[in-house]
Amino acid sequence: MSTSLTGGCLCGAVRYESSVPPVMTGNCHCRDCQRASGSAYAPTLFAPSAAVTITGEVKYFTNKGSSGRAVSRGFCPGCGSQLFGTVEQMPGLLAIRAGTLDDPSLFQPAIDLFTSRAPAWDFMDPKLPKFPEMPPRD
Ligand SMILES: [Zn+2]
Ligand SMILES: [Zn+2]
Repeated sequence: MSTSLTGGCLCGAVRYESSVPPVMTGNCHCRDCQRASGSAYAPTLFAPSAAVTITGEVKYFTNKGSSGRAVSRGFCPGCGSQLFGTVEQMPGLLAIRAGTLDDPSLFQPAIDLFTSRAPAWDFMDPKLPKFPEMPPRD
């Protein structure tokens, strides 16, 4: 992936830039990501929060993930685009929705997670490692 990732929301009010490449990537098929995205899964990359510069107002909605820990999803209050996420279990990392990248082809998902929640119409890349729930932490 490129070392500089830029992107933004649909209306253009929110922009972001990461000065470093992602440290982790994956497609999350959990029910919360389905609801929040209105789609089958959330293609997500993680970058160190400190390396990401965000301009524009971002509103966060917080609830508890399957682990019982807080998950916050950030969106543009003007157009509703889902852009960011933070997970209590992963402090210091900012999740970025790959569809908001200026060049979404830079995204290379490494895994599929929460695949047990996926509907039958959710086609997945057979080459990617699959985790029915959260991948085990090492
Ligand atoms: Zn917007
Ligand atoms: Zn999810």
